[in-house]
Amino acid sequence: MSQPRISIGIVGFGPKGLYGFERLLANLHQMDEKLEVHVHLFNATGDFATGWIYQPEQPDFLLMNYSNAFITMHPDAAPSPICEIMSFSEWCANCRQTSTSAEDKRIASRGEVGEYLSYYFNCLCDSARSNIRIHKNRGKVTAIIPEKGKYRLETDIEFQSPIFTTLLLTTGHSPSITSKLSQSKKSKNCIPFVYPVQEKLQLIPKNVQVACKGIGLTAIDSILALTEGRGGEFEKSNESELIYRKSGKEPTKIYPFSRSGYPIIPRLSNGVTLTQHSCYLKKWVSSLSENCSPFDFEKEVLPLIKQDITTEYYYQLFQNYKLRLNAQQEYEKVLDEIQEFHRLHPEEKKFEADELLRPPIRQSNNAHEDFLAYWKKTVDWIKTENSPFVAAANTWGNLVDDFNWLYKNDKLTADSRSKFISTYFSMFNRISYGPPLQNVQKIIALAAIGVVDFSFVNNPDITKTDSDKYELKSHEEMTSCEWMIDARLPRGYTVNSNVLYTSSCKRNGLFSFLNKHTNSDFANGLNCNEAGNPISEEGEVISNITLYGTPAEGKLFDNDSLSRKRNDTASQWAKQTIQLIYKTLIPEHEY
Ligand SMILES: Cc1cc2nc3c(=O)[nH]c(=O)nc-3n(C[C@H](O)[C@H](O)[C@H](O)COP(=O)(O)OP(=O)(O)OC[C@H]3O[C@@H](n4cnc5c(N)ncnc54)[C@H](O)[C@@H]3O)c2cc1C
Repeated sequence: MSQPRISIGIVGFGPKGLYGFERLLANLHQMDEKLEVHVHLFNATGDFATGWIYQPEQPDFLLMNYSNAFITMHPDAAPSPICEIMSFSEWCANCRQTSTSAEDKRIASRGEVGEYLSYYFNCLCDSARSNIRIHKNRGKVTAIIPEKGKYRLETDIEFQSPIFTTLLLTTGHSPSITSKLSQSKKSKNCIPFVYPVQEKLQLIPKNVQVACKGIGLTAIDSILALTEGRGGEFEKSNESELIYRKSGKEPTKIYPFSRSGYPIIPRLSNGVTLTQHSCYLKKWVSSLSENCSPFDFEKEVLPLIKQDITTEYYYQLFQNYKLRLNAQQEYEKVLDEIQEFHRLHPEEKKFEADELLRPPIRQSNNAHEDFLAYWKKTVDWIKTENSPFVAAANTWGNLVDDFNWLYKNDKLTADSRSKFISTYFSMFNRISYGPPLQNVQKIIALAAIGVVDFSFVNNPDITKTDSDKYELKSHEEMTSCEWMIDARLPRGYTVNSNVLYTSSCKRNGLFSFLNKHTNSDFANGLNCNEAGNPISEEGEVISNITLYGTPAEGKLFDNDSLSRKRNDTASQWAKQTIQLIYKTLIPEHEY
């Protein structure tokens, strides 16, 4: 009897698709060599394994957010990969004839990381056994159609879909971007999404004023594309500061702004990670039972996070005075020790967590100077060895796993979960997941010569004038800009936009959406379980589809990373796929 055709699909083939592919091959190599398995990889563009974010040809000034030491595509668990996989630092040291320890400290460009991912994609394809047929489909999957418990895919290319036994969906931010672009009004002087920066921002002529919505990582990429990307150069003015030499092709001014108006804190570089000493959130989370009722984020969770932030600050400050703060004791006792410390050291300024979360930036009526002064202060913290502020800012990164437990087990009330997504998510990202120091120093250098101006940084009023300009107004000033760019990454999607999840849902209710009821048009994300299996409109768990990375964000927190470890739903998917293949091929009692 001929073997039924087994087809497995990975939809979206950026880094997470690659990780899933690697696990799938490792598991398939454990099976009988005679079984023919077809693995279909789908990517909307030709950027297989890198996606658009790590596309190798992008400009070198688009940097990773952290040093090379944190990057590896080596899996954590068995079975072993089908080819040797070096960490990124080892791979760079090999290519560039440097040492791994030097590479560990370097911050590479995103393009270099893309070369690494592409290299191992090719190695994996070359090492796969001949019974594993790999199909690289360059095209967008537009709908998933259920068929007797399996799936057919519709695409925007000519493609005769086989029936897929399992699917891994790793579409990253793309559905949100498509949704946003489909909703944004067409305007000849507004750029609603800035990537790829070298193409999108090229539309902006020199010597114009540009309003820049967003002051985070995407805004930094955009500002650098409009300056360094146009031939301007940064030079060291002294040990620690940069100056900018104009090319003459830049805009006259770029005015970044955001709702909060707070600057993003640069990240500790050189591959250093700080140890967690304070565990108030951790201890509380580990004392909770699985069936406890949900908590209010602001009233019950945030205070513990603040306790951890404050304790980490003082733990480091005490150490700088050769003292030891007991970070494990009750928080009241920590406060007593802090009070006694300040009595003995009145010269030390008191610290509260809110200074990080909602920094008191406004000191004068000059928004630009106030913003810059605070940003320069954050640069000084990062450069200071053993800085208590850095210890405090680093705290969230150490709490994420505990917070994720609350998040994925639905332990936040619906309202406070929404509040967390709308307010606190970006706040914590701003504090703990900032850009590398050199990028902030570059923007400060651009502000020093007036190319970047923070006068309207804090949520200005914006109106479009009759002459098609964008007028920015704050309490103190007004200016008008010829161009507007939206330098933010969209999240969620409008339910009636035509993206993979909404169209598959309209056709067959395969997915259900979060927050659909509070705002019927907009979905924050998809419903799924902890394994990343989507939950259909009828409440059924779809166990042979797995969401990995951004699509699983409705359930699993903090997916927006290159990390292989965080919320790894792909390893389980690969294992489960093997079981399903056996089930399809061999009668139940024989396997
Ligand atoms: C500008 C930027 C910089 C970043 N920098 C860092 C960083 O320094 N460090 C870090 O850890 N993280 C960073 N991130 C986070 C980033 O999301 C992850 O590092 C990583 O890219 C996630 O990989 P992914 O495969 O899930 O998604 P993506 O990289 O977005 O890849 C998804 C792929 O799926 C394809 N696709 C989507 N829908 C379909 C469809 N329907 N059919 C076919 N193909 C489809 C897309 O074209 C894309 O190639 C950055 C993100 C951005 C936007």
